[in-house]
Amino acid sequence: MPFVRVMKIEPNIARSFCDLLLPARKIVLAGHLNPDGDCIGSLTGMKAWLDSFYRGKGPVGISVIVPNRIPYYLMFMHGADSIIISSEAPDQARALVEDADIVVCMDLNSLARTEDIAETIRKSPARKIMIDHHPMPEKFADLIVSTTEVSSASELAWWLVSEASSQTGTEIPAECKESFYTGMMTDTNNFCNSVFPSTFLMASQIAEAGIDREKIQMEIMNSFSEERMRLMGLMLKDKMTVYPDLKAAVLVLDQKTKDNYNYQEGDSEGFVNLPLQIKNVEISALFTQGDGYIKVSLRSKGNVSVNRLSRLFFNGGGHERAAGGRIYDMPIGDVADYFEKSLRLFLGGFSA
Ligand code: 5GP
Ligand code: MN
Repeated sequence: MPFVRVMKIEPNIARSFCDLLLPARKIVLAGHLNPDGDCIGSLTGMKAWLDSFYRGKGPVGISVIVPNRIPYYLMFMHGADSIIISSEAPDQARALVEDADIVVCMDLNSLARTEDIAETIRKSPARKIMIDHHPMPEKFADLIVSTTEVSSASELAWWLVSEASSQTGTEIPAECKESFYTGMMTDTNNFCNSVFPSTFLMASQIAEAGIDREKIQMEIMNSFSEERMRLMGLMLKDKMTVYPDLKAAVLVLDQKTKDNYNYQEGDSEGFVNLPLQIKNVEISALFTQGDGYIKVSLRSKGNVSVNRLSRLFFNGGGHERAAGGRIYDMPIGDVADYFEKSLRLFLGGFSA
């Protein structure tokens, strides 16, 4: 018999969640640096659910904060245009956190991922809730809802609000379902990675509720600019190095190339997965030149833990097969060599 595990939120977890929420009047939902589909999906979905939860319970203020710009192709989600960007409105973001009764952190396992508001959250007397699916959660929250046995923070949030709704009679709004579905779909790379039996169950429940899956598919998969498509072609043709003996490939996106192709935040989404389509490539890296540091994206389709690789060599972390990090103080022209050397050490058994 195959072992089939379906995500289950224990009733007492959902009860604790509702107990923390009930007396609160000022709520902040916080996401991570370089917010992706799961981050924005879990935040906007939870905001929609909380609007429903607090209906008829008097005035509440619910704010959503992320550290930096949201990619344009995620802006279709309900409420995305009301999200506060803490790097652009630092005083407003800080004041909201300082004033909050509850801070809910979603899709992040360490407070540092909220970047410039991290210390304000840490010092704030607000009760803290974490809803996340990364390994090794930092224990900063009063309630930690965390497992790696789930596709995404959005899926975990779906199971949590489903249980909380059945306990409290809260209606789950269509906007909540749409956002959580989008977050799950993007974090699984359209049902390719980290898919669990529970993921299909969630998709089925949400599809049955009548959300427009085709619209979501269009917004996420078929809404890029022409320049982004041409940039992708260039990256594969001229900016990819394959290291057959390491079963690895590297893509390097430098600032000049970004400028030439009128690069917008999020245009490189999905690029790092492309080299994994090569039969003998099991590890893929994308290095993107940015302001003050080089952004690192790592993916694996085998047994190599890019989470560990990132922790050891790229100042980051993430999941076993999808991780990220940063490189400081290195010319963009040197990163491919640095990656090759690091991976050679790593595969040779190096550990810190
Ligand atoms: P991406 O390559 O899509 O930016 O990130 C892949 C995964 O790695 C995501 O789960 C993300 O949360 C995590 N990640 C990305 N950058 C960082 C980082 O700088 N630090 C840590 N700890 N995780 C990261
Ligand atoms: Mn996620």
